[in-house]
Amino acid sequence: MGRNYWCEFCNRGFADILSVRKKHLKSSQHLRAKKLYYDSFKDAATILQEESTKNPCHRFFKTGHCDFGDNCRYSHKDVMQLKRETENNSSMKTIDIDKINNWVEKWKKKHKDIYDEKPKYRLPSGFPPPSQLPVSLQPPLENVSFPTQDWV
Ligand SMILES: [Zn+2]
Ligand SMILES: [Zn+2]
Repeated sequence: MGRNYWCEFCNRGFADILSVRKKHLKSSQHLRAKKLYYDSFKDAATILQEESTKNPCHRFFKTGHCDFGDNCRYSHKDVMQLKRETENNSSMKTIDIDKINNWVEKWKKKHKDIYDEKPKYRLPSGFPPPSQLPVSLQPPLENVSFPTQDWV
């Protein structure tokens, strides 16, 4: 068995013969797979820029199908959808710190109680009122400091 050439783009292998490989690399099927592969790394802005130079393909948008496929000189892409994606992406890339800070401040105000509340002494449910509890289980008295005692 000879060596095999595996085409990552097309996800298929064949005998590694120069003429066969050359033919494959030129085949429209391979070129399409390669283009799709690289397109998946392009961001929406690049695709939008490319597509905006083309007119929409009437056949594609009317019937949902166009025989020219990716080779069509008209655009098959939903430019509005791309535009939305671009906007989303660019807002991700350039993070507006002031905006974030504003948002955090608003959030803090909204949840003021969480921030301002002092820790509260709470008895587990089912416990009798504090006065009936043994001293060791009673809540700490506020503003009372116990005298330090020297245990001699
Ligand atoms: Zn290929
Ligand atoms: Zn078309």
